[in-house]
Amino acid sequence: MNAPLQNAKTGDERAVEGAKPGITLLIAAPRGFCAGVDRAIEIVERALDRYGAPVYVRHEIVHNRYVVDGLKAKGAIFVDELDQVPDGAHVVFSAHGVPKSVPAEARQRKLLYVDATCPLVSKVHRQAERQVEKDRHIIFVGHEGHPEVIGTMGQVEPGRMSLVETVEDVGKLPFSAEDELAFLTQTTLSVDDTAEIVAALRERFPGIAGPKAEDICYATSNRQAAVKRIAPGSDLVLVIGAPNSSNSLRLVEVAERMGTDARLIQRADDIDPAWLEGVGTVGLTASASAPETLVREVVEKLSEWREVTEETISATEEKMVFKLPRQLTE
Ligand code: SF4
Repeated sequence: MNAPLQNAKTGDERAVEGAKPGITLLIAAPRGFCAGVDRAIEIVERALDRYGAPVYVRHEIVHNRYVVDGLKAKGAIFVDELDQVPDGAHVVFSAHGVPKSVPAEARQRKLLYVDATCPLVSKVHRQAERQVEKDRHIIFVGHEGHPEVIGTMGQVEPGRMSLVETVEDVGKLPFSAEDELAFLTQTTLSVDDTAEIVAALRERFPGIAGPKAEDICYATSNRQAAVKRIAPGSDLVLVIGAPNSSNSLRLVEVAERMGTDARLIQRADDIDPAWLEGVGTVGLTASASAPETLVREVVEKLSEWREVTEETISATEEKMVFKLPRQLTE
């Protein structure tokens, strides 16, 4: 538990001073950057140091505007596709992973690329290859259009993988229990929703192969578990993240499903003071792509309006660190 920001005062003391009303802030742990995001940002920074600016980055390296703007200021140029990268330039692929066609195009164009795909996403890519080698059709549980889904589906030939987003989608799959099937999942899904979808897959296709546990990563699971700890005691949960970030949206859903109002904010300035009316306890967390600076910014903003007492509520400890690619360390 953290020390309170300010010494707690009695209501009488505040009344005498005309002080701000008090608010308790339950800060979730773990929160914020995961090992894959730390690694991806370090890859871009090291590439800038080693090769000099500009370094091109295909897609937002992680889904966070603050992080992207910080890297832009250091000389990174973000692009949607490789055709926006000049010949001979250095390019980094984002943490979400890329279809196989992307490194193939980079090699063909002799671009110098560094792959910042999170190792836990790469692990799913390898599982996809192995299942196809075994001649199984893959059912992939994920959100259509998300870069990670595009990257993972692009690991195998078109037609070898089908996407499902809901339990209803499982019922519509054009396969029978006799077909050779396997399932894989996106890393940043809702733990609870995914368990239901996997249960529906196993019920309809008892022989379906799959990972021992689903592929939801440690960081996604831990952040959702931490929100489950803070939401019941909070009147409002604030999630620092981005609207295009899967793991941010899932954190909002987790709080709402526990019956607590929740808001996604990108920065402290997004907080409407009207949200705090009648609120005595605020829960606060940050998605895996949101830096701790933004958490402190929110604490400071709340302190402008209220006397804040901070408490950290921890679901578990994280010690995960991923190695950098050799081309940036040798
Ligand atoms: Fe990797 Fe999980 Fe972080 Fe995504 S959220 S970058 S899969 S550790």
